[in-house]
Parts: sequence; structure tokens; C-alpha cells
Amino acid sequence: MSAPTDLPTRIPTDLTDEQLPEVLGRSLAGLYSGEARLPARPGGRNAALKALGAFTGKDYGARNHLLSPVSRLSMYLRHGMISPLEVAQVVRAGSRRSDREEFLRQLAWREFFWLVLRQRGAAVLSNLEEPKYRAQWSPDLPADVREARTGLPCADAWVTHLTEDGYMHNHERMWFAAYLIHWRKVDWRAGYAFFREHLLDGDLASNALSWQWVASTFSGKPYMMNQENIAKYSAGKWCDGCTAQCPFKGSYEQLQEKLFGWKA
Ligand SMILES: Cc1cc2nc3c(=O)[nH]c(=O)nc-3n(C[C@H](O)[C@H](O)[C@H](O)COP(=O)(O)OP(=O)(O)OC[C@H]3O[C@@H](n4cnc5c(N)ncnc54)[C@H](O)[C@@H]3O)c2cc1C
Repeated sequence: MSAPTDLPTRIPTDLTDEQLPEVLGRSLAGLYSGEARLPARPGGRNAALKALGAFTGKDYGARNHLLSPVSRLSMYLRHGMISPLEVAQVVRAGSRRSDREEFLRQLAWREFFWLVLRQRGAAVLSNLEEPKYRAQWSPDLPADVREARTGLPCADAWVTHLTEDGYMHNHERMWFAAYLIHWRKVDWRAGYAFFREHLLDGDLASNALSWQWVASTFSGKPYMMNQENIAKYSAGKWCDGCTAQCPFKGSYEQLQEKLFGWKA
């Protein structure tokens, strides 16, 4: 493959934020889709240290709620701008015991996923186990999902966070993954690829194995939620006043029967 001819031989280091997308966009053409633009958050070691310095870990125990503080350090960890040990040290020094333990537990998930990747290699991109229900998944991401026009305000917002911010809260990732796999009956690998395309923290191990955890090919049962759960952890943000035909309404037993054919 020959190199494009109109590239600068060296990319200048003194470009302004306004110039960067154009110059880097040309240099990296073909490696990504969509227009070249700066990420929603700055990259680099200094930005990583700033974000770490701003994170106290206070109230992290309530991290499942979208309004509770999380560190948003994942993209810096993913790209090696800070190490898990550095992060752990800062959090250990500062926060309350229960918050601290919860935070270290999440960091440990990241390390665990990496160990699984190291042990299983490319196999993490195939079902590690059989799904725990009779799953019939189609391979492609539906266009209405990709374009955030499902008509469900919650699902469309999750996709918009992904494509515009390159970031989704962990609970949104879980809800979206469950929606795609169990409600839309799409193979988890289509969701994995969609995340990998857009997430600034896109990471082979955490991404693939989290999708498999939701799908039940790396866990004992499929992860799912209902409307009450979404409303509770989002302070009713999308549910209050929602007029869409909500597919998440119902008890867990009702939804399990509908989605997985399990009778209570
Ligand atoms: C379907 C799905 C796909 C995911 N894909 C990715 C991915 O590509 N890259 C990625 O880094 N994380 C992924 N995660 C895990 C998690 O959602 C993100 O790490 C977290 O939301 C990042 O936000 P934060 O830095 O504010 O996390 P915090 O809550 O502040 O946690 C601190 C750090 O711990 C690690 N961490 C937290 N939660 C998890 C978790 N559940 N699993 C593994 N590590 C965790 C991350 O490195 C994170 O930066 C995925 C989760 C799901 C459900």
C-alpha cells in the first residue's frame, strides 16, 4: 500500500485545537469513519493527572446511579496515560472505606478481564460458553439503533452519548447491551463492534467480556433490566412523561418469560 502523497512529513507539534482535526484527519484518513473532530475530553498525561486529581472517590458506592460521581478515567487507563496502580493509590488515600472498596473492585474487574484475555486470546471474540437461553441472534446492528431513532428516548440517548461523547456510563452500557441482545435479538459482537468504533476507552478485554457477561456466554444468566430499574437509576430522566410504547415495562418474571421463555 503506498502512502498518501499530500501528508506533512512531520506533524507539527504547535497546532491549535482548531487546526488539529484537519491535519490529523488527513494523516489518519481511512482509519476511522465520520468527520475528523477533537474528542469530547482532552487526551494525554497532563489531562489524565488533572482528571485523577479532581476525583475524590466520595460517594462512589452509589456509582450505579447516573447522577452519582464516577471517575471517567477509563480512556486514560485504556491508553496508558495513567496506570491502575497510580489510580488505586490516590483513591486509597482519599476516600471512605466503602467507596474505596467499591472503586477498587471495579478496577479489579478491568484487571480480571485482561487476565482472561491473556489466557484465552482471540477466543474472547467468540462465545466463551453457550448462552443460557435459546438465543437466536441476527448478526447486524439495526440502522434505527445505529442512528438513534428507535423512538425510545432512553435507548436513543444512550446511543447519542456513545457516538457524540465517546463515553457511556457503565449502567447505560449494561442497559444498552441488554436492549440490543435480548430485546432486539442482535448478536453481542455487533454491539461490541459498535462500541469499539466509538468509545474513547474502547478496550478489547473489557468490551468483549462485558458484552459476553450481558449475553450470558460469560456468566450464569443473561443480564436484563426493567423500566423501574431504568427510572430508578436515572432519576426518571427518560421515563417521566415518556409516551413511547415501552418494551421494558413489566416485572422481571414477566420479562424473563417474554425474552427467554422462562416460566416463573
Ligand atoms: C457492554 C459493556 C462494554 C464495556 N466496554 C468497556 C471498554 O471498552 N473499555 C473500558 O474501559 N470499560 C468498558 N466497560 C466497563 C465500564 O463500563 C467502564 O470501564 C466505565 O464505565 C468507565 O467509566 P469510569 O472511568 O467513569 O469508571 P469508574 O466507575 O470511575 O471506574 C474506575 C475504573 O475502573 C474500571 N472499571 C469500572 N467499571 C468496570 C467494569 N464494569 N468492567 C471493567 N472495568 C471497569 C475502568 O478502568 C474505570 O476507569 C464496559 C461495560 C459494559 C457493560
